[in-house]
Amino acid sequence: MTAIQDLVDRNTARPSSGPGPLVGQPSLRIAVVVCMDARIDPAQLLGLQPGEAHVIRNAGGVVTDDVIRSLAVSQRKLGTTEVMLIHHTKCGMATFTDEEFWSELEEAIGLRPTWAVETFRDTESGVRQSMERVRRSPFLTGTTAVRGFVVDVDTGDLAEVEVVPASW
Ligand SMILES: [Zn+2]
Repeated sequence: MTAIQDLVDRNTARPSSGPGPLVGQPSLRIAVVVCMDARIDPAQLLGLQPGEAHVIRNAGGVVTDDVIRSLAVSQRKLGTTEVMLIHHTKCGMATFTDEEFWSELEEAIGLRPTWAVETFRDTESGVRQSMERVRRSPFLTGTTAVRGFVVDVDTGDLAEVEVVPASW
């Protein structure tokens, strides 16, 4: 059996969850950007209930153009104003470089992608880069607060990443 079928079966077998939130607008007016790492469960980590927040995930929890797209929709169409970024300890995206991954793909399939892999050297600087992208995006004018954190995957504790003031 495939894992997909396993999950479909789990859906069928689950207890009825009853009616969900009546509106799609997150009640906490927040969007959370998190790494896709399987060890991290944002709802459990943050005590989130259905209807409270948008959770946007990708490899590294990086604010890419596509995350900006989701945040722009989140803010303009669904009323969120705060952005919380969560990277984590032991993130795989800090264990190889973009160049290494491009070369791996090229050797395996003969094609180098045009996209950035968005690896980072250390987790804190990765969070700062993503925070700056949110702050400087011309499309995210609805942002009232942006804060970045690193979660310890062993304990679940959040540590805030201090903002380094711009040098100009
Ligand atoms: Zn990660």
